Amino acid sequence: MKDHMQRLAQTVGLAQEIQNIKDDLEELPAKVRQLESEFEAVEAQYQQKKSALEKAESEAKRHKSDIEGDATTLKVKEERLHTIKTTKEYQAVLKEIATGKTSVKDREAAIVKYLGEAEGLKSEVAPLESRRQELNSSLQDERSQIKDRLDELSQKLGLLEIQLNEQLSSLPEDIRHKYLRIQGKRQPPAAKLSEGTCQECFMSVPPQLYIEIRKTFEIHSCPNCHRLLFLDL
Ligand SMILES: [Zn+2]
Repeated sequence: MKDHMQRLAQTVGLAQEIQNIKDDLEELPAKVRQLESEFEAVEAQYQQKKSALEKAESEAKRHKSDIEGDATTLKVKEERLHTIKTTKEYQAVLKEIATGKTSVKDREAAIVKYLGEAEGLKSEVAPLESRRQELNSSLQDERSQIKDRLDELSQKLGLLEIQLNEQLSSLPEDIRHKYLRIQGKRQPPAAKLSEGTCQECFMSVPPQLYIEIRKTFEIHSCPNCHRLLFLDL
């Protein structure tokens, strides 16, 4: 009986160690996750500004090349003026030339607008780009730093889980079943009984039960929280 109680206490100890490692495994990558989300936010902004910049530059370029096309057309039309015989046709070509010149002016204004936009965007893209590189390298550093620690902890966790299973299977079947059933409801599934008080729910067990446990080392459940009780042996 005493032996069962000792094994139960060891099982709880192992389960606690396992939980601590699981908590560490959970917390360690937190900085990496934080850096990842910062990086993603900066990356999204960077991509958005960069594509706006590319668009403004390509619009300016398109208008420039359209102006070149317009200039050629205007030149042809101006030369045609010399060969036109009728006033009506002359007027019509003059009108076309005026329209063409207006369109060139509009395009020039558009170019100024897009180049201005591009300048503004360039000054936004540059700091985003360096922040993005900075975050990326911190992320790589952080990842490689925690990798070794995570590997070490995972290995330890694996060993402890094997030990825990061995310990559990060495317990009497009814105790093991109770342990596993309580485990699904509350952690830890067993509690130390100190001076008649359950050290998990801090309720005193009936004196008669305490006396019996101390005499027989039989494993009982706490009448309040139902955890399996063990004495500090
Ligand atoms: Zn209790």
